[in-house]
Amino acid sequence: MRFDTLAVHGGERVPGPSGSVVFPIFQGTVFTSEPGESYHDIKYHRLNSTPTQTYLHDKLAALEGAEAAVATSSGMAAVTTILHTLLGKGDHLLVSDVLYGGTHDFVTAHAERLGWEYSTIDPQDPSSWAVRDNTRAVLVETITNPLMRVARLREVVEFARSNGIVSVVDNTFASPVNFRPAVAGFDLVFNSATKYLNGHSDLVAGSVAGSSALVEQVRHTLNLYGGSLDPHAGFLLARSLKTLGVRVRQQNSNALAVAAFLASSPKIAAVNYAGLPDHPDHGHARDLLAGYGGMLSFRLTGGVEAAETLLAALTLPAVAPSLGGVETLITRPAVTSHAGMSAEDRAAVGITDDLIRLSVGIEDAGDLLADFAQALDKV
Ligand code: PLP
Repeated sequence: MRFDTLAVHGGERVPGPSGSVVFPIFQGTVFTSEPGESYHDIKYHRLNSTPTQTYLHDKLAALEGAEAAVATSSGMAAVTTILHTLLGKGDHLLVSDVLYGGTHDFVTAHAERLGWEYSTIDPQDPSSWAVRDNTRAVLVETITNPLMRVARLREVVEFARSNGIVSVVDNTFASPVNFRPAVAGFDLVFNSATKYLNGHSDLVAGSVAGSSALVEQVRHTLNLYGGSLDPHAGFLLARSLKTLGVRVRQQNSNALAVAAFLASSPKIAAVNYAGLPDHPDHGHARDLLAGYGGMLSFRLTGGVEAAETLLAALTLPAVAPSLGGVETLITRPAVTSHAGMSAEDRAAVGITDDLIRLSVGIEDAGDLLADFAQALDKV
């Protein structure tokens, strides 16, 4: 089955409970056990084993093209549970030098306390990557925030395999519509399902997928740390997954149209979108990705003042952080997602104060372009 068919039919129980075509929410926390069942067979929300949860896990695994998947209470629960599963005292982790702020803060603030060592790598430069005797895993992101750099993903898989370490990727910005890491050979893929997987900006969740053996290890850690997904949120997430392909393809094409439109304006100083031929990662992104995603960033020639004027003049995009929903969102990372970094650190990685980040929704592309045209006229 192809992706859109899997999105609708993957993981579905046929026939569903009591003939229901839509898999229901099993709210109860107590299930009778059958003779011969062990502790591992108990159905309990924290053990991630109730019918609403296992249904969602099967759908997620189908979409990822992975043997198994497990849902978590947030994207952060996904990454912290993975790291707690893979790393013990004295182990070493390689991490990308540009990471989502929460992941970055977790590693930098907690690794030492937990007895883990870590070092950063440039995910665009495989020649600089090296393992130590105690390296256990490498963690990268498919598309980075907010400059939309695309990692050398094939090389990460080869590097991990040849060095016997576990490859882990945060695929939140791409979603499995644009890149399927498990199919490309990554050992573990996780998402903030809060973003594209859910796509309606109304729940917080995470997902982890990979081989049955690794996902089972992650699930055991999750069972003990307690970051399970509530069945109501799980139901909403499974419902949203059915339209994932339709939504993300529209976001891909809208984002490409907006990026090209902005790039053609004399009032725009730079556009960061891997779908544009002049993006530094366009070459390998074109080989790796089915689409370049719904996220882009740009700078105006008029600096911060012009950026604020543009944000105020736009009528369709909401000025808000977060991303991946059906509605277009716009934000200035220096005062939102990256406000925690010093201005010097931000400047060093290219996050200037006037940088604007856009999460493109599924609105009509013509309406979005018209809105940007009228707002640019006011700058
Ligand atoms: N990874 C990426 C790339 C993100 O953008 C986010 C949240 O913005 C996370 C992980 C964390 O996800 P959550 O907010 O669901 O915990």
